[in-house]
Parts: sequence; structure tokens; C-alpha cells
Amino acid sequence: MRFDTLIIGGGMAGLCAGLRLAEAGQKTLIMASGQSALHFSSGSVDLLEGEGDPYAALPAFLAANPAHPYAKVGTANIAASLADLQRHCAAQGLPLYHEQHNHLRLTPLGTLKATWLSPRSSACIGAAPAPSAIMLATLAGFRDFHPALAAANLARHPRLAHSRLLTGEIDLPQLGTFGRNPHECRSADLARLFDRQDAQGEALLAALAQEIRRLLREHQAPADCQLVLPACLSQGLVGSRLAELEGQCGCTLREVATLPPSLIGMRMQEALTRRFVALGGTFLTSERVLGARVAGDRVIGVHSQNGDDLLFEADHFVLASGSFFSRGLTSRLGGIDEPIFGADVLSLADRDAWAGRRLFGAHPFMGFGVKTDDHLRVLRGGKALANLYGAGSVLAHYDPIAEGSGSGVAVATGWQVAGHILARMGGSPSDSAAHQLAREAS
Ligand SMILES: Cc1cc2nc3c(=O)[nH]c(=O)nc-3n(C[C@H](O)[C@H](O)[C@H](O)COP(=O)(O)OP(=O)(O)OC[C@H]3O[C@@H](n4cnc5c(N)ncnc54)[C@H](O)[C@@H]3O)c2cc1C
Repeated sequence: MRFDTLIIGGGMAGLCAGLRLAEAGQKTLIMASGQSALHFSSGSVDLLEGEGDPYAALPAFLAANPAHPYAKVGTANIAASLADLQRHCAAQGLPLYHEQHNHLRLTPLGTLKATWLSPRSSACIGAAPAPSAIMLATLAGFRDFHPALAAANLARHPRLAHSRLLTGEIDLPQLGTFGRNPHECRSADLARLFDRQDAQGEALLAALAQEIRRLLREHQAPADCQLVLPACLSQGLVGSRLAELEGQCGCTLREVATLPPSLIGMRMQEALTRRFVALGGTFLTSERVLGARVAGDRVIGVHSQNGDDLLFEADHFVLASGSFFSRGLTSRLGGIDEPIFGADVLSLADRDAWAGRRLFGAHPFMGFGVKTDDHLRVLRGGKALANLYGAGSVLAHYDPIAEGSGSGVAVATGWQVAGHILARMGGSPSDSAAHQLAREAS
């Protein structure tokens, strides 16, 4: 089986590489062993921590961190990659919102986290004044969002000083079946019910709207009240369906990502996967790559758990297998490995130095990962493999949590390696044409 490019990993980095390659007409295969970090993420794309303009902060950040993956992409390409992501998401009915500065995304604990792009349905505070009232509500029996706790934390934030914070519970008899086993009452379980496209699904949504109206009435909520619900209603509660429900409820509805599984992140995974396939890409799930055949400085092919003796061959390969979380990196007592290619990995010999002393402090292991050259080609034995590129959280030299750069690095490096591959195949739009396209999209 032969492809132009084979991508190992179906998370944000692999998909961003795949979308650019497939759109350019390459025969592209993504092989993914399982779920990605998106299934656990807020669905927002962090670019760089802080409440200001992350692009204004990037030059100083790159000067201070010359080995950072962003430094191998460059500011203009980072912007182009994020605009491209917006374009692909919008094409799938999942518009992403951003402002001149980072906006603040509401977390399930009621804290506000600075981020760059968020799905439009996410509860966020931007530059505009916060609504005069925000009601945080949950569904009776749902265990993964606690409005009173979130409201207590949110009340401490100066941006909410002039907003009335209300809390409430929505009681839907149709969800009573979950009472038998509360462990079943998680966001994905609820979504399955709300996703039904039949009369029962419609009746459930109508009952929900009625309950929301009751809550607003009982709390004498003002007309501009924003209602925030845990993201457990429906995987499809976006676009016209959301607008319809808002019309029935008479208020703005926003969602907050819950504890995993996160429906908002899953929506993004599904939207990007659908888009990749629509552009002609092939996406294989439950397909763990076990090893590779390498000749000299070139990767010839990879073999997988399910493929028996089959060698998946390609001209170019992208390693986007994620960090420890997705087993793109594995940790042993003696060290850190990249299991497929045995790539060079940045780590520390002294295991005691891997983690910091304070749980919420800096942890050196967060910066461990695969080493690459300036073109993001993966190093093995100190030399770059000519046709293997690294992208996303498998890479060394960045700390997604401390920097607030998680998905930003995945998007930017995925997009960038695709550009390198296209340039080598002679099929790339020039960078300036790509930037022009991206500007038009944003
Ligand atoms: C719990 C959690 C929450 C996060 N929340 C946010 C957030 O709110 N905002 C933000 O910006 N960032 C967030 N991040 C960070 C961000 O999501 C990740 O940095 C980014 O999505 C990583 O994407 P990736 O494609 O590099 O890796 P992953 O998403 O980890 O994807 C790796 C892929 O590789 C596959 N894979 C691994 N090994 C193999 C193999 N041998 N063969 C085939 N496939 C393989 C996996 O199945 C998976 O599909 C979060 C991360 C985590 C872990």
C-alpha cells in the first residue's frame, strides 16, 4: 500500500498536516491507534499564555526560546496555520472565535483561562463587557459540573465584578433512567439522548427549553442573561440547532467543557476528520504503528498491529504520535523512548530531576520529546531522517502547560511540516500565496 505521505497520529497535529497535504492533492494516509488529546481538551486553541496579544509577545518569546518548535515555524506561518484551521472548522459548521487579544475561556471550576481560538459556543469573556447576569446551570444527576463551585470561583474575577452570578438545576424526567446508575450520567451518555433526531430527541430539547425558561423566570434574570451549561447536551448543538434552542429559551446559551470526555474537543476532532476525508484523505483508526523499515537516511514504510506483514509505504512520513499521554513517548526507569523509530529524545539522565517539587510548578519532563532539525525532520543517531518529520506534542523543547501553547504548537508544526513536504514535491503554493489564502480566510 503506497501513499505520498503517511501520518502517524490522528490528533490536532496529524490532522493539520493531513488537511494541508490532502487539500494540495496528495494521497495522504493518517494512521491513529486511538483517541487523541482532543477528546480530553476544551476545544480551545492556546497560542501563548497571557491576557495580551500573543502575536505581540511572540518575538520576545522566540528570542528567549530559540529551540522552541514555534521558532522552526516562524510568526507569519503560525498565523497562517491558525487561519487555515479556522477555515477548515468553519467549512464543517464549527466556527472558531478570536479577538485582537487572548480571550478568557471559562473552565468547569469557574476559573478563566487565556486562549486564542474557541468554538463559538464556548463560554468566554472577551473585550466586550460581561453580561449583566450569567446563570450557571447543570442537569440534575450530572456529576461533572458544579455550578455553585464554579460561581464561587468566578465571582472572584474582576471582569465579573458587575455581573450577577446565578446558579440553577434543570430537572428533566426523561433523564431519570440515569438515577439507577449515576456513573452512566456523563456528558457522552447525555449527548446520545440529545443527539437523537427523532420525536423523542425533539421532545427532550423542548423540555430543556421549558426548564431553562422556568429557571430564568424564577431568578428574574435580565434580558441579556447568558446561560452556561456543561457541554453535555449534544455533539450537534451548534449552528442553527443552537440558534433554535436559544430562540426557544429567550437567552444566549454557552457551554463549558466538562471533565473528560469533552464533547467540545470531540466535536473538533470529528469536524477535522470529516474535512480530511472530504478532501480525499484516508483515515485509519485503531491502527497502531509498531515499527518502521529504514534504509540509510530514509524511511521506506511502517507496519502496524493489524497489518500482519503489510508494509505501508510512502514518500514522506510525519510522526505526530503525541506525548506520554498518547504513548508517542514512553517512559522507563532508565529513560524516555520514542517507540516507533527509536528517534533521538531530549531528556535528563538524572531521573530525580524529571519532575519539579511542586505539583503546580515547572516540570522538566514536560519539555522532553523528539529532537528535530530546523525543518522539523526527526533526528536519529544525531542525523536527520530525510523524509520523516515531527509535529505536535511528540516534539521536544516546549511545555504546553507552562507556556499555554498546547494546541497552538500542534497546529503550527503540523501545518509547517506539510509545507516542507509540499515544497519538496514541488506541489506547494508558495508561502506568500498560502499566507494570502489564510488572510482571506480569517
Ligand atoms: C487532557 C488534556 C487537555 C488539554 N487541553 C488543552 C486545551 O484546552 N487547549 C489547548 O490548546 N491544548 C490543550 N491540550 C494540549 C493539546 O491538546 C495537545 O498539545 C495537542 O492536541 C496535541 O496534539 P497531537 O496531535 O500532537 O497529539 P495527540 O492529540 O496526543 O494525538 C496523538 C495521536 O497519535 C496516535 N498514536 C500514538 N501512538 C501511535 C502509534 N504507535 N500508531 C498510530 N497512532 C499513534 C494517538 O492515538 C493519537 O491519535 C490538552 C492536552 C491534554 C492531554
